[in-house]
Amino acid sequence: MDISPEVLKRSIESLFRLQEIDAQLFQLNLEEKTIPPEYSEIQDKMAETLKAIKSIERSLRDVDRERRGFELRVLTLQEDLKKAEAKRRDVRNTKEEFAASKEHENFQKKLVETKKALTEKTELTTQKSQQLEEKQKAVKEFEEKFQGLDETRKSRMATLQAEKDKLIAQREAHISQVDEQIFSLYERVQRIRKGNGVALVQGLVCSGCHVSIPPHTRSRLEKMEEIITCPSCSRILYLHSEEIIEHKSFASTSAL
Ligand SMILES: [Zn+2]
Repeated sequence: MDISPEVLKRSIESLFRLQEIDAQLFQLNLEEKTIPPEYSEIQDKMAETLKAIKSIERSLRDVDRERRGFELRVLTLQEDLKKAEAKRRDVRNTKEEFAASKEHENFQKKLVETKKALTEKTELTTQKSQQLEEKQKAVKEFEEKFQGLDETRKSRMATLQAEKDKLIAQREAHISQVDEQIFSLYERVQRIRKGNGVALVQGLVCSGCHVSIPPHTRSRLEKMEEIITCPSCSRILYLHSEEIIEHKSFASTSAL
């Protein structure tokens, strides 16, 4: 690989930055996937309430139908009772009077029973209607909460997207700085290592695998004349420029 020291330095530095950007992008993507927890909580409560509304509506329909049936029955019985009263007034003998009284009494009894049932059903209808109203009010409240959360979520998403766009642009800029051969080597190592393709060297340790590198490998790395990979993990080794100065000054002080 015949690459000038400048290109080499620039390429590896850019790859190192690229790697940092990819890690940041990974975090942002994770963040994007996590909806605020209250959001799904309200979603569950809303679904539950809507289900309850359907069930109340169904029973309300049934109760109301029964109520209307009793209402009609009361009207009919009131008519029957009137007829029975007229009949009772028209009796010709004791036998007929007895029968008419019996019939009248019967209708009266039935009317009392039916009116009682009608009251019960009317109360139940009112009760169910109130329940329905409460649930519908709850749905409205959930919808309002949703709207509030949606706005927070949308603005957070927009911020995230802006951060991502900025990083993606930086990423492209860094890639354009990398020599093609070095980039393909980087991609190869990334595939093998399933992640970072460049590792920082700190002292004599590769930060990718935490294994020491031989001192002569470090000297070659400092010269920046060739691409050096870690003997144990194959990652492209990278040395911060400050590291070079620090190490050199350390070496010169220790030589004194
Ligand atoms: Zn290593």
